[in-house]
Amino acid sequence: MKQYDVIIIGSGLGSLVCGAILGKHGYSVCLYEKNRQIGGCMQTYARDKAIIDSGVHYIGSLDEGQVLNKIFSYLGIMDSLHLQRMDVDGFDYIHFNKEKKHYQLAQGYDRFIEQLLIDFPQERDALHAYCDAVKDVCSRFPLFNLRTGDASEKEKVLGIDAAGFIRSITDNQRLQQVLAGNNLLYAGVENKTPFYVHALVQNSYIESSWKCMDGGSQIARALQKVIKQYGGDIVRNTEVKKIVGKDGVVDHITLADGREISGKYFISGLHPARTIAMTEHDSFRGAYRSRITSLENSPGTFMINAVLKPGTFPYLNYNYYHHATDSAWNGIHYTADNWPQTYGLFVSAGEGKLQYADNLSVMTYMRYEEVADWQHTFSTDTYPDTRGADYQAFKKERAEKLLNVVEEQFPGLRDCIHTYYVATPLTYRDYLAMPEGSMYGVAKDANDPLKTFISPATRLSNLYLTGQNMNLHGILGVTMSSIVTCAELVGMEQLVNEIIETNK
Ligand SMILES: Cc1cc2nc3c(=O)[nH]c(=O)nc-3n(C[C@H](O)[C@H](O)[C@H](O)COP(=O)(O)OP(=O)(O)OC[C@H]3O[C@@H](n4cnc5c(N)ncnc54)[C@H](O)[C@@H]3O)c2cc1C
Repeated sequence: MKQYDVIIIGSGLGSLVCGAILGKHGYSVCLYEKNRQIGGCMQTYARDKAIIDSGVHYIGSLDEGQVLNKIFSYLGIMDSLHLQRMDVDGFDYIHFNKEKKHYQLAQGYDRFIEQLLIDFPQERDALHAYCDAVKDVCSRFPLFNLRTGDASEKEKVLGIDAAGFIRSITDNQRLQQVLAGNNLLYAGVENKTPFYVHALVQNSYIESSWKCMDGGSQIARALQKVIKQYGGDIVRNTEVKKIVGKDGVVDHITLADGREISGKYFISGLHPARTIAMTEHDSFRGAYRSRITSLENSPGTFMINAVLKPGTFPYLNYNYYHHATDSAWNGIHYTADNWPQTYGLFVSAGEGKLQYADNLSVMTYMRYEEVADWQHTFSTDTYPDTRGADYQAFKKERAEKLLNVVEEQFPGLRDCIHTYYVATPLTYRDYLAMPEGSMYGVAKDANDPLKTFISPATRLSNLYLTGQNMNLHGILGVTMSSIVTCAELVGMEQLVNEIIETNK
């Protein structure tokens, strides 16, 4: 059997970027993916000729000279991506309650300020203070600025909470909520989510916002090509069951069919709690094991993916975030009686589909407890299961409830829908192996920021972690995490220099 230097578990973005970087550095890599399709959250599926995204709806910082563009160029995938720039005057529309108007978040800091001044003419100072603070916080994260640096640079800002900070820059309550209006992007919790999470996410979209034409899976395919070009392999439909340690190192992993695979280094792109659960008890200290397994995760999502009748629903070059109350932070605290309290609507871009769209997604929160009745079922395309008639009825009832709310802002939407498909936290749990179907993994907490920082190095000296739980979720955050992980083998200075050199 072929021997590899690096065995990578999973083929989410984190794993793929690690595979590409290490392949470029001469390591032979092999990724094992349990699903038929690679890409994790970047998977797409086709229904009635529409290509539907299961996760990623838009990406930031991809313009020439911006950080993700530079890293994707270094990886050799930038030129192959097929992207649609979103509306520069409003990539996100924010809407509250029954209000007749919406608020637009624009691309570019100057435009961002000028656009919001239309609705908040008295708030110039506050808007400048907000933008300066976002930029200042981002500047303290060296890698997001492609430089090496010291962890102490960001220490000062880790404990600032997003809602509290936004309240401090203006008394205008509507503006406070508008600035937090797209917090579904990071499952924001008032007085808990750190401002740095808000700032890194918001900054990337203010810099520039893009949709993937015909789906985000193109990123996975492009990275797969790079991995193969450097001689790496990706083995699909193959679940990793165990990580077996011996004398402080990983000796091998065991696959579902019982095969044992050895390597020099091992990287897990899974949630760290899942990774730890695959190791034997003596591989990790009890305190580390219980810290990692007790970390709180962000909630799950309930998502409607609707295939639209041809020529009925216009393509919208922006996303739409609705909040049922005047607070952008309330949606996550829904109750059984008032669900859904918020939603994001994302219209898919595609070749020949920029006049009328062929599908859209509506996303809201759903906690795992709501689907607990069916937690003992398992369903993916490889192992399909209906989970029973009562689950189907639950999905239908919730989807109709969500559509009723969406119709208040988009009257007639139902008539445009040919058919729809629904994903719940169970879908994400089963496809991605995310604990309780969490959307973004470990929830960050400004009140105890260091608790949620997880190092890529582990006690098994040749086992490293990567993916959205390391640093920050999202396409940008996960790409950064992969660099941090690969730096353990290649060196941070070398990697950063290579990225800079490629972009000269
Ligand atoms: C609903 C939703 C919407 C999102 N929208 C956006 C967006 O618009 N923009 C944005 O930037 N980000 C978005 N994100 C976040 C972003 O998609 C993720 O942060 C990122 O893709 C996660 O990558 P990852 O590497 O951590 O792994 P994941 O995508 O979680 O992939 C993990 C992979 O590991 C595989 N795996 C698990 N267990 C095993 C095993 N035992 N053996 C083998 N393989 C295994 C899984 O099958 C999966 O392929 C969204 C996420 C969700 C859930």
